[in-house]
Amino acid sequence: MSNYNIFLKKKECSHCRNNAIIHRKYSGENLCSECFQKNIEKIIYKTISKYQMLKPDDRIIVALSGGKDSIALLYNLNIIQNRAHQSKSIIALTIDEGIGEYRENSIKNAKEFCMKHDIEHKIISFKEKFGFTLDEIIQVKQETPDYKYACNYCATLRRRLLNDGAKGLGGTVLAMGHNLTDFAETYLMNILYKRLDIIANQYLFKEENDKINHFFIKKISPLMRIPEEEILLYSNIKKFNYYPSHCPYREKDPIIRKRVLDFIQVCKEYSPEIEFNLLNGFLEISETLHNHRKKKDYNSCRICGYPCGSKKKCTYCSLLQELSQ
Ligand code: SF4
Ligand SMILES: [Zn+2]
Ligand SMILES: [Zn+2]
Repeated sequence: MSNYNIFLKKKECSHCRNNAIIHRKYSGENLCSECFQKNIEKIIYKTISKYQMLKPDDRIIVALSGGKDSIALLYNLNIIQNRAHQSKSIIALTIDEGIGEYRENSIKNAKEFCMKHDIEHKIISFKEKFGFTLDEIIQVKQETPDYKYACNYCATLRRRLLNDGAKGLGGTVLAMGHNLTDFAETYLMNILYKRLDIIANQYLFKEENDKINHFFIKKISPLMRIPEEEILLYSNIKKFNYYPSHCPYREKDPIIRKRVLDFIQVCKEYSPEIEFNLLNGFLEISETLHNHRKKKDYNSCRICGYPCGSKKKCTYCSLLQELSQ
């Protein structure tokens, strides 16, 4: 926790007279346990309101992995929905990619959390949808010359299952547990690979498009202004029973994303506000790119009909074809 001092000597909370448990280097605040929790919940609430993430009649589907981020998100959104007058109840959706013990254990945590909080929970697996788990895909593909690393297979297939699963449950919004660190990392990756269309497309206030909405559910990330370390501390204070390990493929494959994350962590040591700068840079640049780039027409995938940019086939269908060969 480079950006935080956990106190050895007693210090007072900046907001009340209790003992502080954390010092935020980027803001200079000291926070006690109570004020820290309230502050995290306030940030989530304010982010939802500032970026107009929810409408009163939305049916929220929460992408639940069983890790700290998605559990903290589900906990807060459930409270917000229960407080709101006549709101629709939340549904949690888990994708079981089939990643050995890692996914088995995290699904166990996800199930227990939903049972305890009386939240409807749906699980969709790669095995039932495609006939193979991610582990089986990797076993077959890793010796072949066109092997693309586990995350490429996993993310493309999971994204579509989450989208279609959420729509199938009657959802109007899909809430993702991406935190500030995830946003900073993704933005930097997109810059490194000059993915300007993707950055433009991620603009948070882009106009509604019925054609696109027909296929894709609106995604929101209410944790986007909270650093990963703070979600971890919050989840521990709340005593959430989350699954703490990372996916084994993150370590096994030499993916650049992990290196970018390590780079951000090193930068944070010297410049604690760097993740916020990256997020604010993303928000500004995505708006500018969205407003100034020439709007391109998009093709419909000739297999599934989903919008797929300038290609004839979407990435999802191309991958499924490759896997069925
Ligand atoms: S780290 Fe990669 S393989 Fe593991 S769950 Fe995430 S996207 Fe899938
Ligand atoms: Zn306090
Ligand atoms: Zn397709």
